Amino acid sequence: MLRRQFLEGAASAAVGVGLFGWPRDLTAQMPATPIGIQVGAVSFLDEGTDKVLDTFAELAAIDTLFLATFTYGRGIGGRQPRGSPLPDHGKQEYDDTYHGGNFATPHPQFYKNTSIQPQKAPDHPGYDVIADVLPRAHKRGMKVICWFEDVFRKDVPGLDKAFEVDVHGQPQARVCYRNPNTLNFWLGLTEDYLRSYDVDGLMFGSERQGPLNTALGASHGGGPAPSTVGCFCPHCLAAAKKEGINVERAKQGYLALEKWIGATKGKDRPADGAFVTFWRILVEHPEVLGWERLWNEGLRDTYRAMYRKAHDLAAQKPMGWHIWHTNSFAPFYRAEQDYQMFTAFSDFLKVVMYHNSGGPRMARYIQNVNSTLFADLTPEQTTELTYRLQQYSGEATIDKLPTAGLSAEYVRRETRRAVTGVSGGRTRIWPGIEIDIPTGENEKKTTPDDVYGAVKATFEGGAHGIILSRKYSEMRLDNLRAAGRAVRETVKRA
Ligand SMILES: [Zn+2]
Repeated sequence: MLRRQFLEGAASAAVGVGLFGWPRDLTAQMPATPIGIQVGAVSFLDEGTDKVLDTFAELAAIDTLFLATFTYGRGIGGRQPRGSPLPDHGKQEYDDTYHGGNFATPHPQFYKNTSIQPQKAPDHPGYDVIADVLPRAHKRGMKVICWFEDVFRKDVPGLDKAFEVDVHGQPQARVCYRNPNTLNFWLGLTEDYLRSYDVDGLMFGSERQGPLNTALGASHGGGPAPSTVGCFCPHCLAAAKKEGINVERAKQGYLALEKWIGATKGKDRPADGAFVTFWRILVEHPEVLGWERLWNEGLRDTYRAMYRKAHDLAAQKPMGWHIWHTNSFAPFYRAEQDYQMFTAFSDFLKVVMYHNSGGPRMARYIQNVNSTLFADLTPEQTTELTYRLQQYSGEATIDKLPTAGLSAEYVRRETRRAVTGVSGGRTRIWPGIEIDIPTGENEKKTTPDDVYGAVKATFEGGAHGIILSRKYSEMRLDNLRAAGRAVRETVKRA
């Protein structure tokens, strides 16, 4: 551990040289201020590749494509899911049979050391999104970054040999980062994209967090889930032993957390209150925190290994990471996304700053932690605490959050925080800015004015680039045009 920390420190101190000695000056490879957009295969098929690329350049001065090349999810792949309005372009019908997978062509030689089967997405038979888009993009001077994420279907053959094991010893249908099948799958995909295609870089994302935060429900997701937390698989137990963490004490701590959450939500609430009882568990079982760190190290080791692999193959091509939106809501997850630490193994960070859906999502986070850690507070008090702990000001009260969203000031502040966080290193901050992420029926919707404000705020905050998110197939053209207006007014092009 110590040796790694020392090396990372040394690396970020040495200007222009990454952890493993590769030059990390991206200026030769990338535009000085990349204007990026996330886009999936279906848009090129629905609207025509040349037409989509021309639209990007014309409406929003886009020069970098973040192609959704691997996902089984609906966040970055496919059209809008049923229930969300289709935008004013593309095919006006829902793709209910969406499957997902690798939207390029998996080459089997790169997946020999993993049980996880590399599946070509069956959605568009005979179509390879990179092969189609890359030459047309390069002809226009646009860069192409492969964008892939940790979102699987449970039925992917061989995935069960990489599953996490929960505190009760049951398998959970999500991959363990310490399982060699998982690591070798991501390394295979990294190598496949870089060797099989002349793409300009890679971006990977994982929207998951450690067992403590998951138990607490400290996210805008599905709420507390203490009975399913992990990982306690043999690989993780071995890593714990190596770190000197007592496995039995850790399990007892997580079981105590499960009991505490059950009591906090039930009629027999703890006599000492939710927070004091929680803190007692933590003091009695510090292994709970040890296991949280262990989980994070598993993910960071994956980042380090992918970064090393990518730069062994293509020293000048940037590799970076998507930082999950929970970073904006939960001080717990936020503490674990140490931007300075990232500089040792990141050429860029796409820090998610989705301002519209940020409102309803923040409200859901508050509702979640109000049922566990902050059960002694009112929702209004939890909101105020969350804002103050994260140095937000001027954001909406809890009753207005779902309809107000978060402000452009939030975007400016979060950008500045990220830029400051990576100072001294060579890591670029390319914030993820939202256009038309679906929200509930009566919740905040994107308008041209707020896209314009958010993009302006990003550059006022000192951003080195921008990534319009999440996918073109959900964006309205007037909102995309507003992003372009802000870019043209703000960014000086060479
Ligand atoms: Zn594990």
